[in-house]
Amino acid sequence: MAHRDELAEHLRFAAELGIQGVSRDPAWRPRAETAAQVMTFAATPAAALAAVRADIGDCTRCKLHRLGRRQIVFGVGNPEADLMFVGEAPGHDEDVQGFPFVGRAGQLLTKIIEAIGLKRDDVYIANVIKCRPPENRNPEQDEVETCEPFLFQQVDIIKPRVVVALGTFAARALLRTLDPISRLRGRVYDYRGAKLIPTFHPAYLLRNPASKRDVWEDMKVVKKLLSEK
Ligand code: URA
Repeated sequence: MAHRDELAEHLRFAAELGIQGVSRDPAWRPRAETAAQVMTFAATPAAALAAVRADIGDCTRCKLHRLGRRQIVFGVGNPEADLMFVGEAPGHDEDVQGFPFVGRAGQLLTKIIEAIGLKRDDVYIANVIKCRPPENRNPEQDEVETCEPFLFQQVDIIKPRVVVALGTFAARALLRTLDPISRLRGRVYDYRGAKLIPTFHPAYLLRNPASKRDVWEDMKVVKKLLSEK
């Protein structure tokens, strides 16, 4: 069996068993640099995502692993979703439960999703950073640079038709800009084969409920884009 086929079988088997990370030794860790490489040996988007998760392993690539994170928060939802939401980083509740957007901001995100006629299970939800920054501080540049390739792989595997960037950090990471969300929102961007809509972060909406109106305008655009087959 060719080396790549062996590795593919190994990763598929590991994913089936729910093994998260196949070795702690970075030298042994399988390298899947791009989603294209992952997809060459993954049968389905779900398997490809499992392979990316296995590649992340019990990550020690940036300093967040020794700053109190409990676990990696990879992403959740439909691996073949038409719509993907991207947030900033896990907070306390996400760090405890292992899933993105499960705290107060997450409950508001769930309402936003339901407001456009979808369920959480229909969409895919992930963050730019997979580990909780201490005291929920903003992610630092080195942490974003280390972690964002995994988000890009998730996007390339899921191939959503529409990506919603929640807040300044997600919009900046995805659009490669330093503009704040207030300047970025209100427009549709082309992004990795998808349409990208930047909007306010649900945590911002909890502090500034008046901006819910703007988010609703953005969600109407999302709905329209999704209805265009
Ligand atoms: N805020 C985020 O950006 N992501 C989460 O998962 C939770 C809160």
